[in-house]
Amino acid sequence: METNRLNGHKEHFSQGLNGHDTLLIDNPEYDFMGDNHISTSIETPMREDAFMLTDEDKREIIETHFKQIMLTLGLDLNDDSLSGTPKRISKLFVNELFKGLNPANKPGISVFENKFNYNQMLVEKNISVRSTCEHHFLPVTGKAHVAYISSGKVIGLSKLNRIVDYFARRPQIQERMTVQIAEELKQVLETEDIAVVVEAKHHCVSTRGIEDDSSTTLTASYNGKFKDERTREEFLRYISLDLRK
Ligand SMILES: [Zn+2]
Repeated sequence: METNRLNGHKEHFSQGLNGHDTLLIDNPEYDFMGDNHISTSIETPMREDAFMLTDEDKREIIETHFKQIMLTLGLDLNDDSLSGTPKRISKLFVNELFKGLNPANKPGISVFENKFNYNQMLVEKNISVRSTCEHHFLPVTGKAHVAYISSGKVIGLSKLNRIVDYFARRPQIQERMTVQIAEELKQVLETEDIAVVVEAKHHCVSTRGIEDDSSTTLTASYNGKFKDERTREEFLRYISLDLRK
């Protein structure tokens, strides 16, 4: 199922980079997704040739195209304040907001043996999430709370932040990001006992469409022992969330 879907992307995205200004994104799955923010796969959909260009090439192409967008909007790029914007945007996209698309930027994570025999859950809460909605390219900001029960491996605490940040730094859907973080933690920590809760504000909800300023979106991935109600409630108590009905 997963493989079929990925193959599907290959077919649809097989135009090649020479035609980068006429990208064919004709996958019907994406046509009806629209505002619904429904994810169809745990993998971020990437072109097969995603890393054939260098970051410098990418910045150059983005700069050219963003300039066109600004000109199309009628902006005068001779203005001192605007002239540098296409270059700034290209750096912002490649080096910051979307650097998590490139596996080369994945944080190197080393785990340690759990010498203290601490076998309770470890919770790291209020990890900053700075992401971008892939449907509108507007900010998604909030907090992630992650927990694991050690299977014998432990991880440096700041590495939890780095893993969250890596998956946040790409055009995202909150549901997918939550699962991606959980799956990565499972692999790194060699345990199924992982919980991830993300609470975020979508600027595409507050600044357009329904224009709701106060709502936040909550997503969760409970795995292994966290599927057990008592364990899950202990975790939710630590992060001060009561998600019971
Ligand atoms: Zn959106």
